[in-house]
Parts: sequence; structure tokens; C-alpha cells
Amino acid sequence: MLDVEAIRKDFPILSREVNGKPLVYFDNAATSQTPQQVIHAIVDYYSNFNANIHRGVHTLSQEATDLYEQSRQKIQAHFNAKFSHEIIFTSGTTHGINLVANGFSSILKTGDEIIVSALEHHSNIVPWQMLCEHTGANLKVIPMNDQGELVMSEYDNLLSENTKLVFTNHISNALGTINPIEYIIKKAHAVGAAVLIDGAQACPHIKPDVQALDVDFYVASAHKMCGPTGVGMLYGKEAWLNKLPPYQGGGEMIAEVTFEKTTYADLPHKFEAGTPNIAGGIVFGTAIDYMNSIGFDAVAQYENELLEYATEKLLSIDGLKIYGTSKHKTSVLSFNLEGIHPYDVGSILDKLGIAVRTGHHCAQPIMDYYKIPGTIRASFAFYNTKSEIDALVEGVKKAKKMLS
Ligand SMILES: *Cc1c(COP(=O)(O)O)cnc(C)c1O
Repeated sequence: MLDVEAIRKDFPILSREVNGKPLVYFDNAATSQTPQQVIHAIVDYYSNFNANIHRGVHTLSQEATDLYEQSRQKIQAHFNAKFSHEIIFTSGTTHGINLVANGFSSILKTGDEIIVSALEHHSNIVPWQMLCEHTGANLKVIPMNDQGELVMSEYDNLLSENTKLVFTNHISNALGTINPIEYIIKKAHAVGAAVLIDGAQACPHIKPDVQALDVDFYVASAHKMCGPTGVGMLYGKEAWLNKLPPYQGGGEMIAEVTFEKTTYADLPHKFEAGTPNIAGGIVFGTAIDYMNSIGFDAVAQYENELLEYATEKLLSIDGLKIYGTSKHKTSVLSFNLEGIHPYDVGSILDKLGIAVRTGHHCAQPIMDYYKIPGTIRASFAFYNTKSEIDALVEGVKKAKKMLS
């Protein structure tokens, strides 16, 4: 069991007020809050270790380099990658996806096919559309059903020897659906296609094992798992990372440069041009340590309790509809009140100190499927409580009264 009251003390922001009310933070799917352990690590880095890495002979530079590389090893261990050089630091999930998409532009040919899921975040759609424009490859979409689940029989039908790449998120940010990625990966490999999984929404809730999954690429952002913004990671199988060309040119990523020819650095540096987000990279490791000290099993169990509690309470409100009703889902609740625009509800909740997201959640195709402009999304983390959910339910009732 989690000691939630003790955990809440780790998060300074949770004791502030918004509009004169105690903050209730239910926008965890957009970004998580930051524990003092992580805040302290940022201050510690700039107070004691700040230097550029991988190039200095001086002590500070070597210490900063060691911390950065130790963090890479921590991330490797967390995701169970075989080698630390299979972990590439990125600025976040979006960067990781673009890096892979760009790499495939030299591999794909006209007539090749890329399969994406209907549950994608915009950042997971646009790079593939651009890749298709460049290469003449075609984009296919795994459709969804009313519960917000991907239809696997349709996926089976889309797969063929033309399939070169399959992309899906591990967990949908808009609906919370946990996708059957084990099945998706196995089937893709059977036709010789590579698979990239967007783990941005999964990593705050579960601990993926990239070797057990046998996934080719996996991407995540630190800021959704108690880390800072502007840093993330791309895992890629060694063979794939060796095969893909570098994404950006610059310092750090070269072995030798003349005007005639440049040779590239070994992994992981081949993909890490320029001075990286050094503090962010180091502190990403601190965030992973923090999450592991809470424990992913305990987190999953507690968040599931919150989800069940909130689902039951919200459904007791007349005219409230929940979108995304898969049995396999995490603590994301997307809902609407009949005849009321989600934005108006969100504004009233904000007046009450309750932070939710309203809109299409960067997943317009899902909203089109349900024929709605957007939803109100409350997403829970392990530091939220049932009494906060009670406040949300009261707030929604109040909004309904005021707006109908
Ligand atoms: C947040 C999110 C992204 C984008 O992450 P960034 O950190 O903004 O790059 C991509 N996919 C999913 C599923 C997300 O939840």
C-alpha cells in the first residue's frame, strides 16, 4: 500500500492554492508534477557540476560526463535494454519519433507500407505522413471500436510483405487504453516489419521491458514520469541504430571531419549532435529512481483504485458520458456532459482549483470517430486522492447546474 499523504509531501506544488482553493491536479497525462528529490537534483547539478560533457580534460567536465553516462545506464537498466548505447537521449517523445521517421526515409521505397493506429497523438501521425510524402510509401490505419480499443482483426488484414513499419502508442493519452503491443509486435515481425512504440503515456504507470517485448524502438518523455521537460529517450535495437543514418549533423556526433568526408561517431553519440540537455539527462535518472522507490506495482494498483472510484462516482451524474471504456486502461477519464461544451466545464473547474484538460488532446482522429469536438480529461497519478476525486465530482455537478 502507498502512503499517499507522505508521498504528497514530496511534491511542493501540491500544497499551493489556485483561485483561493487547494490545487487539485488532474492533468497528469499532459505532464506530471515534480518531486523535491528531482528539483534538488537540478539545483545540485547547476550548483556543483555544471560543465560541458564528453570534451573537457578538466575535472568538472569529467564529473558531469560521468553523471550523464550513469544516468544513461540507469535508463538502460530501467527499460532492460541490452546495451547502454541503445539508449539515445532526446528532447522528448516527439523528437524520438522524428529521429526514427527521418532515418527510415533512406530505407523505404515507393509501395512500402507504414501502419499506424487510430489512437495516435498528432506527434505520431505527422512524421509518418511526411515520411510517406518523401518516399512514396503508403500510410494504413488500424481502426478503433466504440470502447476505444484497436481492432486486431483489422490489423491482421493490413499486414503484408509490403509492411515495413508499425507504430502505435503503448497507452492512449486521450482515452487511457492499454494497447496489445505484444501481439502487435509479434505479428509485425512475422512479416518482417519493424515496430516503434510510443511509451510517453505508459512509462508513468508501468515498467516496460524492451527485450521481453522484442520491440525495435521505444520512446518516452521524462516530464510525464516525474522528470523535467525537454528530455526523453529513444531505445533502439543496436542493429537498427547502426542501420539508420544520423538525424542531425553537429558536434558530438562525428568521429573525424574533413571537407571531403566525415565519419560518424559510434552509438549512442551518432544520434546526439550538439550540447545536450545535460541537467535534464542526469535528472531523468533521478526521476526513474524516484518512481522505482515508490514501486510500479503499487502505483498501478493504487491508480486503478482511483480510476474505479472516479468512474463510478462520475457515472452517477445524469447525462455524463465516458469515452474509452476498455477493460485494459490506465487512470485517464475522458468524459462529456450532454449538451455542454467541454471548455466551459473546464473553466468552471479551474475556478474551483481543479486542473483538467479540455479539448482534443492532440488526438483529433479519435474525436472525429466519436463525432465530438473534444472531451474533459481527468488523469490521475499516484499522488492523487479519493477526496480530490470527490472535489471533481462536486465541481462537475456544479458546472452542470450552472451551464444547463
Ligand atoms: C505526451 C505524449 C506525446 C508527446 O510527448 P512530448 O513530450 O510532448 O514529446 C506523444 N505521445 C503520447 C501518447 C503522449 O502522451
